[in-house]
Formats: sequence, structure tokens, C-alpha cells
Amino acid sequence: MCAVLPLLKGRLGLSAGRLVGLPGLGKRNIISYVERIRFLQQLKEQDAACLSQLPEGQFLVFSRSKPLVRVNQANTNEALVWLSYTDVMKYHQLVPRSTVLLDVSEDGKTRYSVQVGALSTETQEQLESDTGASFTDLRLALFMVNWQEAHTLSRANCVHMWNKNTAFCGKCGAPTERNAAGYSRVCSSCGHTQYPSSAPVGIVLVTDPELTQVVLVRQPRHPPGMYSCIAGFSDAGESLEETVKREVAEEVGMEVASVRYVASQHWPFPGSLMAGCFAMADIQELKIDEKELQDARWFSREEVSEALERIKTNPHLRLRGNPTGELFVPPPGAIAFHLISHWIKRTPVHQIYHHIY
Ligand SMILES: [Zn+2]
Repeated sequence: MCAVLPLLKGRLGLSAGRLVGLPGLGKRNIISYVERIRFLQQLKEQDAACLSQLPEGQFLVFSRSKPLVRVNQANTNEALVWLSYTDVMKYHQLVPRSTVLLDVSEDGKTRYSVQVGALSTETQEQLESDTGASFTDLRLALFMVNWQEAHTLSRANCVHMWNKNTAFCGKCGAPTERNAAGYSRVCSSCGHTQYPSSAPVGIVLVTDPELTQVVLVRQPRHPPGMYSCIAGFSDAGESLEETVKREVAEEVGMEVASVRYVASQHWPFPGSLMAGCFAMADIQELKIDEKELQDARWFSREEVSEALERIKTNPHLRLRGNPTGELFVPPPGAIAFHLISHWIKRTPVHQIYHHIY
């Protein structure tokens, strides 16, 4: 019998009849969103339940922080490679200690991410050959996979890094012990419990009231030709709207009005929750903070449309830059792309969520 069944029954109080068709019981069946979330919650909280799912789990493999993905084409679906427990054990024997829980798939498979460390060249080549995939720089992978898979990669990387960086208690300095899912660490001395968290970032596309132009900015680290939205971390005691207003004032020296939240994205560098917003300001001269920015300008709809087309047809521009120096914007894996493209399409703010998710 499928191991999911008694766990789901126990957690949800469901009858066996309602669960017929779960993995292992014959034909593929889709589990509702609520059932998946509640099952995931159970796995995060109960070590025995989480460990019992490992043998039937699916594993996303990281070697030296590089995920195993197929990124031959841009923005393809199902670029992530999922291995069975048996397959992972061929390469790495320490699965329970180096695995973190990710999610539960629509057909009830528990999905994990495993860090296998440095593989020998021979083993790595064999694994890449067997799967038709390659261990890929995480930043590159994020720009090449689709929106949903980017979030899976982001979660995996953040939970692995969080476990690595919280090996000692923030209160007393004693070693901490992780739970099976990798979502909590308890101090061995004072009992203080820590959980992974994200740092909020406001990212904003500033437009004039007539929607004819937007402000895009260029940081020194951006590749040649790339401009993006204004962004910055929230300060302590600050609302998201206040973050956005402050960042615009700091970076380009103007005051915006009517900040409106649109949609968010998790980003693993270094574990941020990017909250995408629109804001308005009259077209005016920009007073650039030269410590933060290399350039900032108002761009027309025509210029931005062309920039969107360039990145859609060639997402590699994000890494290599545009040798011609012509404008491009972040690719579809980034929230900035969606803010910019929906501004071009004039999508009503309340409808953008449905286009992204
Ligand atoms: Zn402690």
C-alpha cells in the first residue's frame, strides 16, 4: 500500500474511499491543493512521517550548490530532473542527513532536494549522461526554467543554505539539531528553535500617470544593455509601500504616489521575497544615486517593447549581456519581467496575478 495513504488519512481524517487512486494504488490521481498542503505540513512537523516517505520520494539533486537540470532550451517546462531514492543512493549514501523536504506533487509524490557534495568526474558525467541534464549554475538555471520551477529551485537552495548557516544557536552559540524535513533547528543547550525565513524586498516599476513612460535603472553589476526596476530591502519597522517610496527617493531622487502591490517572487540570493509593485510619478529629471546606480532613465513604450522582445527571444542576454549595447530587461524567470510586460500590455493590476499563476 502507498505510504501516503495512512498518513493522509490520519492527518485529514479522510476515508480510504476518498483516497483511492493515490500513487501506488493504480492509476494516477490528482490530490487536491488543500490535501497536499496539509500533508506537507504533517511532513514538516513529524520526523517519522517525513523519513517514512523517503524511499518513495523524488529527489532534486544539487552538487556543490549546482542543481541537475535540463536547460537546453529557454523557459521549458519540466526542466528539473527528479531521481528516485534508489538512484540517489547509488551516488550518495547520506540521504536523510543531506536532504530537505520541498513539496508534494499533484499525484502525491513527496519531493525532496538532496546535496550530494562533490562527485567524481566519472560519476558526474555518468549521471548527466543518464538523465540528459547537467549540473548548472543556479543563477543560470533560474533564468532558464519556468516560473514555478524557479520557485522550487529557490526553495531548495534557501533551505539547504539556511541549515548550513544555522548550525549554531543564535542565542547561546551551542550546536543546533535539524528536524527530518530540514525546516526547524533546535538548540542542544537552551532549546531555542529557529525556522527558515525570507527577507522582504520591494521592487517597483515607476510610470507616469498617462502610462507613456517608465523608469528603468542600471546597476554596475548588470550585464551590458540590461536595465531593470528599482528594488531594495525593507528596513525594520517599514511597510512595503514605505520601502518602495524610500527606495525610489534614494535611487532616483523623486517622490512617487499610489504604490500598488502586484505579485511576488521568491529569490535565493540571498533568500528574498520580492514584492512587485507599480507606482506613479510625473515625468521629471532623475537625480541618480551614483553609489548604487550606473544609470537611470525614463523609457518610452516603444523602447520597452523592443527590449522585451530581445530578452524573450534570447534569455542568454541576461548572463552574457548585449554586445550591441541595445536595451533589454530581465527574463521571464524574474518578477521585473512580469511588471514590465504587463505594463506594456496595459493589464489591469487585479488581473496580473492570474496571468502569472
Ligand atoms: Zn541556544
